[in-house]
Amino acid sequence: MAGIEMKNIVKKYGDGFPAVNDVSIDVEDGEFLILVGPSGCGKSTLLRMIVGLEDISGGDMMIGGKRVNDLAPRERNLSMVFQNYALYPHLTVYENIAFPLRLANKPESEIDQKVREASKTLELDEHLERKPGNLSGGQRQRVAMGRAIVRDAEAFLFDEPLSNLDAKLRGQMRTEISRLQKRLGITTVYVTHDQTEAMTLGDRVAVLKRGVLQQHATPRELYENP
Ligand code: ADP
Ligand code: ADP
Repeated sequence: MAGIEMKNIVKKYGDGFPAVNDVSIDVEDGEFLILVGPSGCGKSTLLRMIVGLEDISGGDMMIGGKRVNDLAPRERNLSMVFQNYALYPHLTVYENIAFPLRLANKPESEIDQKVREASKTLELDEHLERKPGNLSGGQRQRVAMGRAIVRDAEAFLFDEPLSNLDAKLRGQMRTEISRLQKRLGITTVYVTHDQTEAMTLGDRVAVLKRGVLQQHATPRELYENP
């Protein structure tokens, strides 16, 4: 596991106004950070720069004390959970979770152990032979997290993972993600535009507006001093 340090991060697309403008945020080892702000404020861009899906125009991105600006996504050992979960519909739950381990050519015994461990943690052990099409939204979300867990990634990154779910399930999944994150103690950056998620999920909240960091504080501090 590792902390993530963003120092004076800038992203420019072409000649326009920077999408991310001189943002410095320290995410401590094991911390759950929420990135929040209105559509177009630069949340996804910042997340994509952490993961390595987007080039960084300026500043330093450090993961576990190591500068990663020029490292490819697979060299950063991070796990991203997308909004649509990106599950493989033709593969079982077991094979969906095992997928990154198969890609990495891990031995069968290790794959089996890790998949069973993760599915126990996520309470998916009774659904391992099912296909994603037969699962509830919450179960699909857990499969996506399982795939992230088995990789022993240094950090989890979430891009609006709950925005496709109905209100009831969103509430359940909020509780579940928060509980899992605490249990795993894994550094997490979570992008949302939902105020409730921002104020209930994280240890700290970073508020972006037009690419600029407006506030960086605990939910309590933000509540008392909005
Ligand atoms: P958010 O995730 O907060 O909705 P984004 O990071 O997607 O915001 O976008 C921030 C700004 O950068 C927006 O003005 C958006 O139009 C712009 N932007 C995002 N991606 C690109 C891109 N690939 N090319 C040009 N502009 C982009
Ligand atoms: P989000 O829901 O994450 O804000 P968007 O609809 O803003 O998604 O963007 C979807 C995709 O289009 C992203 O890959 C983003 O980088 C790209 N994109 C966003 N704005 C622009 C833009 N102005 N020009 C080119 N690509 C963009």
